[in-house]
Amino acid sequence: ASDRLRNMPSKLKGGQDVEAPLPCVYHGNVGDALHAKASHASAEDAFFVADLGEVYRQYAQWTAHLPRVQPFFAVKCNPDPLVIKLLARLGAGFDCASKSEIMQVLHEEGIGAHNIIYAHPCKPASHLRFAQTVGVSMMTFDNADELVKISQLYPEAKAVLRILTDDSQSLCQLGLKFGAAPGDVPSLLATAQQLGIDVVGVSFHVGSGCQSESAFADAVLRARRVFDQATQFGFRLSLLDVGGGFPGRGDQSGLSFGAVADVLRTALATHFPVDAFRHLRIIAEPGRYFVASAFSLAVNVIARRKIERDKGWGFRYYVNDGVYGSFNCIMFDHQQPQPRVLMSSGRLVTEQDSVEPLYESSVWGPTCDSIDCIVPSGLLPELQTGDWLVFDGMGAYTICAASRFNGFKISDIVYVDTEGALLRR
Ligand code: PLP
Repeated sequence: ASDRLRNMPSKLKGGQDVEAPLPCVYHGNVGDALHAKASHASAEDAFFVADLGEVYRQYAQWTAHLPRVQPFFAVKCNPDPLVIKLLARLGAGFDCASKSEIMQVLHEEGIGAHNIIYAHPCKPASHLRFAQTVGVSMMTFDNADELVKISQLYPEAKAVLRILTDDSQSLCQLGLKFGAAPGDVPSLLATAQQLGIDVVGVSFHVGSGCQSESAFADAVLRARRVFDQATQFGFRLSLLDVGGGFPGRGDQSGLSFGAVADVLRTALATHFPVDAFRHLRIIAEPGRYFVASAFSLAVNVIARRKIERDKGWGFRYYVNDGVYGSFNCIMFDHQQPQPRVLMSSGRLVTEQDSVEPLYESSVWGPTCDSIDCIVPSGLLPELQTGDWLVFDGMGAYTICAASRFNGFKISDIVYVDTEGALLRR
C-alpha cells in the first residue's frame, strides 16, 4: 500500500523560504488513502486524509452560485498550506486575523496584499504596524478606540465597518463580542471623519454555523442602510463584505449552500443592484464552507473496556485523538462527530459489510481527563484494540486549535487530490 505514495511535483514544493518540505499526495480517493494508511502493519497514529479535489469542487460551486462575490478564505478555520496554495491559485482572497496569518498567506505565490483583509476589529498594535509594513490596508473596526489606534499607527488604512447582525440562529454567535450596533454607526462614522480615516466599506458576520438563510438577507439590508448613512459623512463606500457562516457540504444543520446562496444573491440584487453599484467590490469570508467536508480523521482504538450492562454487554473505546486535539470542535464549535468503522478485527470494513451485532458504546480521547469524550453514547460493532474508526467532515475548526495536552501529538495529514486540482493552471 505504501507504494501508492508519490512525491509532489517539484513546482509545488514551495518558495525558497519554505522551512519544512511540503507533504506528499496519495494516488486515489479518500477511501484508498484511509485503507492504505490504516492497513500498514505498524500504523497506530491517528491521521487526517484531506481531499484537495473537494476544496476545488467547493470553489467551483461558489463561483457558479455567487459570481458577484469573491471568497476570501478565513485562514483561522484551517490554515493548511496546501489548501491555501490551492485557493490562491483558484483566485480566492484571504481573511487573516493576525500577523502570523498574514505572513503565512503572503508567503504563497501570487497573493498580493490587496487580496487580504485583516478581518479582526481589535488588533494588537504590533500586528497593525506589520500590516502597514506589508501593505495590507483593508481592515475591519467596530469601535472608536480602534479608530484612534488605526489613525495613530496606520492612517492610510482602508477601514471597513463591521456591523452587528442577527446571529441568534448560529452555533457560534460572534455578535456577543464584535459588531457595531445600529445606534453606534453614526458616531463611529463621525469619529472616522474627524480622524481623517478612509472608511471604504461595511462587513458583517451572521455567526459561524449559521442555520438560517434569512440571516444573510437581513444582514445585507442592514449593510445597505449603513451605505446610505455613510454618504452623509462624506464617505463613498466601495466594499461590501458578507462575512462567513456558509454551511459546508453535508453540514449537520441540514442547511444547504445552494439555499443560502439563492437568498444572498437575491438580497444583493435588491439592495445593491448592479446598475446602481457598478463599482462595488463584494467579498465574503467563508471558512467552514471550503474545508469541512474535505478532511476525514482516522483514529486508532488504543484500548477498550468491556462493560456489563442490564441487557448484555457494552464497550468503552479509547482512541488516539480527542477533545484536547482535533475533537476540540466538540467544545469550541458545538459539533457532534459521528464515527464509522474503517477496520474491525484487522479487516477493512466497506459499506456493503454487515457490522452486526451492535453494542452500546462510547468513544473517548487518549488523555487522562474525563471531559475528553468524543461520542458519549452510540451503537458500534465490537472493536478490538488496533481497529480504526473514521470521522468525516473534520476539516473546519479542528487541527487549528488542537493542543498537545498529556503529551499526545497533533494528528498528521495526508493528501489526495481527486480533481488533480493542484496540477491545473
Ligand atoms: N470571518 C470572521 C471575522 C470570523 O470570525 C470567522 C469565524 O469565526 C469567519 C470569517 C469564518 O466563519 P465560517 O467558518 O463560519 O465561514
